[in-house]
Amino acid sequence: MDDKILVTRSSMPPYEEYIEAIKPLWESHWLTNMGRYHRELEEKLREYMGVMELSLMVNGHMALELAIQAFDFPEGAEVITTPFTFVSTTHAIVRNRLQPVFCDVKPDDGTMDENKIEELITERTAAIVPVHVYGNVCNIEAIQEIADKYGLRVIYDAAHAFGVKYKGHGIGSYGDASVFSFHATKVYNTIEGGAVAFSEHRIYEKLYNLKNFGIRGEEIVTEVGANAKMNEFAAIMGLCNLNHIEKAFANRKIKYEYYRNEFSYMQGIRLFDEKKEATRNYAYFPILIEETYGRTRNEIYSFLRENNIYARKYFYPLTSDQVCFKNKYKNAELGNARKLANEVLVIPIYEELEMENAHNIVELIKKAGKKG
Ligand SMILES: *Cc1c(COP(=O)(O)O)cnc(C)c1O
Repeated sequence: MDDKILVTRSSMPPYEEYIEAIKPLWESHWLTNMGRYHRELEEKLREYMGVMELSLMVNGHMALELAIQAFDFPEGAEVITTPFTFVSTTHAIVRNRLQPVFCDVKPDDGTMDENKIEELITERTAAIVPVHVYGNVCNIEAIQEIADKYGLRVIYDAAHAFGVKYKGHGIGSYGDASVFSFHATKVYNTIEGGAVAFSEHRIYEKLYNLKNFGIRGEEIVTEVGANAKMNEFAAIMGLCNLNHIEKAFANRKIKYEYYRNEFSYMQGIRLFDEKKEATRNYAYFPILIEETYGRTRNEIYSFLRENNIYARKYFYPLTSDQVCFKNKYKNAELGNARKLANEVLVIPIYEELEMENAHNIVELIKKAGKKG
């Protein structure tokens, strides 16, 4: 293979469709500030995602940061979260002047270990921020039960879980809020973008203030807000990509199932468990390269690179091990998370990935295992 195969490639609507869709902007000159397309996308996504309320944001990170801010936790309060995630999750907590408390994850799906949450709760704990990592759904019932028992908020980082349903309901309808990313590299994109889903209407007003400088009228500012609005070009990209979302899932599914069949029986390679009550969006394909494979994850990673396949070590290192966070916060035992971080490799999967390339990737990994 001559061309680089990256871990993902953005889905895009047909060129003419997008060009046609943005034409009205040259008449209205209304490019942002909760315009017509912002409102239309908010409404369509609310319906598609099966959630009560939705607030669009400029990106997933600001969605997460503002979702946390919307609940007005006292400064320095503790937030139980997972280190096995993209660094944005931890940044969003710390940038809100809250203390992350890292909880270990489960080896079978990489989500927060619900049996290790309670021992981390103190009188300063205010919230739990779990991650539906790779679209693997957390143990929602157990987490909610703990939250109810101790009076904690639950804000899910659902950046990987767009389109996922759990027990017939949109994944964004669980917890106090769920945050989605529509970044170009995600399964559904608005170029850059994100959203917060929730049920309480009060939060809509709060997030509106936080994403638009707290402006409530020409001469009225009621709250100290940021600027995190989605612009109209992004909203139109979202509307166009939404037209093709089912095809995008179907195209990914073909590769996903092919990989799953191939890797299921490969000695030394382990896959995450899939919950029966949850649907999948085929956003990522993580494999776990265990000691018995004979080659380490790093060796496979390098071997693939030599062959122009750019797999990624999502998520290594743990966010708690990054220089900006290391040794700053309470050190819980993170054995499972650390092991996963050392074994995981996310291999390329995207809508337009050729089957031939998927096949080559599988063959290269097999070959690497036999090397030497
Ligand atoms: C992508 C991502 C984010 C941040 O979203 P952006 O849209 O890139 O700002 C947050 N959390 C996780 C787990 C992510 O993968």
